[in-house]
Amino acid sequence: MTNNHGVVTAIKAFNDNYIWALANTSNDNVALVDPGDASVCIDYLLHNNLVLSEILITHHHSDHVGGIKGLLDFAKTKAWPVTVYGPSNENIALLDVKLKENDEVNLTGLGLQFSVLDLPGHTKGHIAYFDDNILFCGDTLFSGGCGRLFEGTPKQMHHSIAKLANLPDDTLIYCAHEYTQANLAFALAVEPNNAALHNYAEQVKVKRQNNESTIPSNIALEQKINPFMRCHEEAVKSAAEQYSKAIQNSEIDVFSIIRSWKNNF
Ligand SMILES: [Zn+2]
Repeated sequence: MTNNHGVVTAIKAFNDNYIWALANTSNDNVALVDPGDASVCIDYLLHNNLVLSEILITHHHSDHVGGIKGLLDFAKTKAWPVTVYGPSNENIALLDVKLKENDEVNLTGLGLQFSVLDLPGHTKGHIAYFDDNILFCGDTLFSGGCGRLFEGTPKQMHHSIAKLANLPDDTLIYCAHEYTQANLAFALAVEPNNAALHNYAEQVKVKRQNNESTIPSNIALEQKINPFMRCHEEAVKSAAEQYSKAIQNSEIDVFSIIRSWKNNF
C-alpha cells in the first residue's frame, strides 16, 4: 500500500501475524510495528536493503515484542541507531520512549508523525499509532472482530473500539493478525441479514482462496460489518439477547455478551 504517508508492507510471521514495515520512497529507512519475530524481519531488511530506524510496539504480548532484542543486536552489528517506542503502562524491556494518549511520535527519517491512542481492553496498556489516515492498532480491532479481553474489562474495550469508530471513515486499519475470515463467520451468526456483511464475506473468501491479505481494512467498512462496532444496532442487540438471558441495560452489555459468544464460537 503506497500513499502520501509512505509505503506500508506486511511481513508475515508465525501462523497469522502481520509485522508492518513502514518505509518511504526517498531513503532506505524503515520502521517496524510489533516485530514478534526478529528473523523474518532481518530477512526482509537484508532482501530489500533497508536500514531499521524505529520499532513501534502496541502491547506486551510475545508475538508482538519477541523480536525486539534480536533486531537491536542485528542493528548493532550494522551501527544503525534504532529507537524503540511502546506503551508506558506495560512492562516491556528495551523501550527507549514510553507513550500514552495524545503523545506524538515523530519518525523523522520517514517523514511520518503519529498520535498515540490509549486502547485498554486486550491488555491494560495497549496503545495504537494514528497518522491522519493510517492506524496501527495491534490486537484491539481486527477486520470483522476485536481482540480478546485478557486484561481489560468489556467497558474498557467497548470504549476503545468506540474511539476507533470515531476516526475518519477512510482510515486504513493495519491490525496485527489475519483473522478476518473466522471473524466474519461469527459476524454472520450475529447478523445473518446484513447484506454488506455477506458481500464482504464473499470478497474475503476469494482473497483467502488466492492467499491474499484482507488487511488493511478501513473504518467505514468496519462500521458496516464488525459486530463489535455495531452494538448500538437493533440486529446486534437482539442477537445478543437471544444468546444470553443477561439483562442488557447498555451497549456495553451487548458488547460483553457478543465478546463471550465469540470466545465460545
Ligand atoms: Zn495480543
